[in-house]
Amino acid sequence: MSKKLILIVEDDKTIRKFITTALTTQDYSVKEAVTGKEGISLTLSYCPDVILLDLGLEDIDGIDVIKKIRELSNVPIIVVSAREQDREKVEAFDNGADDYITKPFSIVELLARVRVALRHSQSNNSSNTILNNNFEFDKLFVDFEKRKVIVQEEEIHLTPIEYDILSLLTKYHGKVLTHNFIAKEIWGSVLGGETKSLRVFMATLRRKIEKQPANPRYIITEIGVGYKLNDE
Ligand code: CA
Repeated sequence: MSKKLILIVEDDKTIRKFITTALTTQDYSVKEAVTGKEGISLTLSYCPDVILLDLGLEDIDGIDVIKKIRELSNVPIIVVSAREQDREKVEAFDNGADDYITKPFSIVELLARVRVALRHSQSNNSSNTILNNNFEFDKLFVDFEKRKVIVQEEEIHLTPIEYDILSLLTKYHGKVLTHNFIAKEIWGSVLGGETKSLRVFMATLRRKIEKQPANPRYIITEIGVGYKLNDE
């Protein structure tokens, strides 16, 4: 099997070298870009398997780099940034980032995120979790054709909106969906009120499908950002 190629877009030389060393030690191939423009052009010429992207670049804003790359490719993008504001995280996710890691981070954490991103891009290609219009993960079973949800072998009755939220999350399993994205998909709008309703629907949905709603197994909260359906 050929080595997986990771593209690092980072203007800070020390961090770039640090990440490169860690990845090459783990037998990944690495390409480095210093600017956003270079990152976009290397994405085109090398088709990397994962991109690690710093948001604070010298030429283009990292968010614009995400937008540009998304016009070209579905490659998993892990944002690596010193910025901790939720607003930026939300913006990155809304524009198609797959994951987010805040500096300073440990190499162990970074490598774990890279592995998850690679696994997702592979599982999305073969779509092994959604088969024959069904979704299955750890005793949660969704039959999209019959709109049926089964947890621990018991059928759960969901309201239409609860079902729509759950099926949206399963469709993008493993990926963080922002409040705005979910509201837009479910209600067709992004007004403030929907975020509040979303929280209410999420609470009732969790009460129905989670064994311990306060310590959920399926629907994970990304504080200040959104939700994701766990798939590992
Ligand atoms: Ca930077």
